[in-house]
Amino acid sequence: TVAHEGILRRQSLRESAARTYARSLPIVPVRARGLTIEGADGRRYLDCLSGAGTLALGHNHPVVLEAIKKVIDSGAPLHVLDLATPVKDAFTTELFATLPPGLAADARVQFCGPAGTDAVEAALKLVRTATGRTGLLSFTGAYHGMTAGALDASGGAPGVRVTRLPYPYDYRCPFGTGGERGAALGARWTESLLDDPKGGVPRPAGMILEPVQGEGGVIPAPDGWLRRMREITADRRIPLIVDEVQTGVGRTGAFWAVEHSGIVPDVMVMSKAIGGSLPLAVIVYRAELDAWEPGAHAGTFRGNQLAMAAGAATLRYVRENGLAERAGSLGARMLTQLRALAAEHPVIGDVRGRGLMIGVELVDPESGAGAGAGDEDTERRPADAAPALAAAVQQECLRRGLIVEVGGRHSAVVRLLPPLTLTDEQAVAVLDRFADALAAAES
Ligand code: PMP
Repeated sequence: TVAHEGILRRQSLRESAARTYARSLPIVPVRARGLTIEGADGRRYLDCLSGAGTLALGHNHPVVLEAIKKVIDSGAPLHVLDLATPVKDAFTTELFATLPPGLAADARVQFCGPAGTDAVEAALKLVRTATGRTGLLSFTGAYHGMTAGALDASGGAPGVRVTRLPYPYDYRCPFGTGGERGAALGARWTESLLDDPKGGVPRPAGMILEPVQGEGGVIPAPDGWLRRMREITADRRIPLIVDEVQTGVGRTGAFWAVEHSGIVPDVMVMSKAIGGSLPLAVIVYRAELDAWEPGAHAGTFRGNQLAMAAGAATLRYVRENGLAERAGSLGARMLTQLRALAAEHPVIGDVRGRGLMIGVELVDPESGAGAGAGDEDTERRPADAAPALAAAVQQECLRRGLIVEVGGRHSAVVRLLPPLTLTDEQAVAVLDRFADALAAAES
C-alpha cells in the first residue's frame, strides 16, 4: 500500500497534465491474468477497459506469452526495421487469413508503426497519393487518433479541408428523428454535399469512418447506412477507409466489423488487438491503390517482432476458437440484461453496442423525453447527458473492483470492453457490480 501511494503521488507530480486514464483510475497494476488486474495495494479488479479494447484475449494469455517467449528463446533479432523475417511472414499469413473475402483477393499490407494513429496517417496519405486529391470526409464524433492528420479527421486541427458529416447517432440524431430514417437523412446529406457543384465539397481523397464509433460513445452504424456510404463513395470513385482499430479482431461479433454489413472497404486501418497487447498497426488495402513509390512511407518501428508474434498468436486463437461468435452472443445477452436494468433506472437513457463493445448512456431523466421517444414522425428530444453521474458510476465501479471507461460526446457513456474470453460467470459478476455501482451513484 505504501508503494501504491508513493507511485501514484510521484506520477501525478511528474506526468503531464494531459495524462488520461491514470486520472480517473488511481490504481497501480502489478500483476494481471485474463480479466483480472491486481494492484500494488493487493486489490483485484475486473478489467473491462482492456487497454481501450486492445486485449482480445485478456491479460497475459498463455498463447500470447508462449509466442513471445518463443521468439526470445530462438535468438531471432528483435529489431530489423521492416526486413522480411519468419515472424513477419507468419503474422502476415495469419492476418490475410482473417480478411473479408472481398479484400483478401488482392490485398496489400503496409506496416505503419506502433499506434493506431500511425496507421490512420498512412491511410490518409495513401488515398491522397492515389487520388491526387486532398479533401477528406469524416464524421461527427469520430476518433481516429492524436497525430495531426488523424486529428484532422477527428476534427481537432485547423488548416486541412475536412468535411464532417453526421454519423448515425440514433439516440441523439441531429435530424431529430430516430432509426433508419435518421440514418437515411444523413446519407442524403452526404450525397447532396458531394453532388452540389457550387455549394458542396469538391471530390475528396477519401472518406474515413468507424463501423462502430468507440470513443464517440459506442455508436454502431446501421448496416444499411454503411452500405449506403459504400455505394455513395464507390459511385463517385472516392476511396473508403474503414477504421477497425477498436472494432477489429472479433470484438463486435464478427472478425472485422465490416462483415456485418458486407461492405468491402478500399482501406482498412488496424491496430490494438492485432498486436496481442504489444504495439502494432497496419493498413490493408486494395492493390489497385498501391500508388506509393518505394520508400514513400517509412518509419523505424514498423517491424516489432514481439508484437507480430503476439499478434499472430492472438489472431489465430480468436479465429480457431470462434471468439468473434462468442463475443456476439455474449454481448447480445449482456445488452438484454442492461436494457432490463435501464427499465428500472431512468438515468439510463440508452443501452447500445455490438458484441463486446457496449455503451450505457447516462442522462438526467428530468430534462427531456428520455429513452423510447422513437416515434418516426415526432421530433425526438433525448434527455440531457449526465457526465457527473457517469464519472460517479466509474468511481463506484472501481470501489467494487470493476474497471470501466467513460467516453462519448458528453463524457456520459459508460463503456464496457471486456476481453473476448469473458466467461458467463464473469459477465454476471461484471453486470452485478455495475448495477450496484449505478444504484450507489444514484443515491
Ligand atoms: N482509431 C480508433 C477507432 C480508435 O479507437 C483509436 C484509439 N482509441 C485510434 C484510432 C488511435 O489509436 P492509438 O491510440 O493507438 O493511436
